[in-house]
Amino acid sequence: MRRPILAGNWKMNTSLKEAVELVTGLKRELAGVTDADIVVCPPFTHLTTIRDVVAGSNIALGAQNMYIAEEGAFTGEISPKMLKDSGCTYVILGHSERRQYFNESDEFINTKAKKALEHGLTPIICVGETLDQREQGITGKIVTTQIKGCLAGLSESDMLKCVIAYEPVWAIGTGKTASNAQAQEVHALIRSLLTELFSETVAQKIRIQYGGSVKPDNIAGLMQEKDIDGALVGGASLKVSSFAGIVLFNK
Ligand code: PEP
Repeated sequence: MRRPILAGNWKMNTSLKEAVELVTGLKRELAGVTDADIVVCPPFTHLTTIRDVVAGSNIALGAQNMYIAEEGAFTGEISPKMLKDSGCTYVILGHSERRQYFNESDEFINTKAKKALEHGLTPIICVGETLDQREQGITGKIVTTQIKGCLAGLSESDMLKCVIAYEPVWAIGTGKTASNAQAQEVHALIRSLLTELFSETVAQKIRIQYGGSVKPDNIAGLMQEKDIDGALVGGASLKVSSFAGIVLFNK
């Protein structure tokens, strides 16, 4: 039985004050949760403040991105070491917005994943097809290429420390969720790829989140699917009531 993992990707949203209010509300609403991992991923500028608010609670801190070097002349970038120092235990890598607007390749995401693991961060590695690719019937091919590229050269023990997020690009921020069956089909494909690339043990242990317009009213159905182990949530993670409603899907 895999432990559910619900993560909120706040993207480039919230003032510092709003971020503190949001996480303070989540701390209050979710204090009793012991059967799932809860992660919030605020913007970089809020990390250390939010770290102090969630200290000692059941909410973990994640970042939305990172660079591959430890330090040096990389203006505007943030290193894995800095994320650790800021209290992060998770980092989202290869989000479709990073792929789309910042041209991140599977190879670059793979290097980031290795660097994150070296620094003891849990990567949440995102994959997913565009609408055009789904309509062309090449979802499986696209996700297979992304999984193989992003996970290349990882050892079994490294892989066991990763989380994968399947996020169909056409469902992100659009209000269109993949149906439970559509999501399950790709999650099952990812799990079979993990068996092929690593082992059955790894495949059965890795948590695969679904992401794409997850809301309190669709999470329970998604979570009933055999291979869906949680959610990566964008828009609905910006309100206490909706993110709490998602985390408390089985209560
Ligand atoms: C996301 O950005 O990872 C995401 C899934 O966004 P939304 O929930 O808003 O679709």
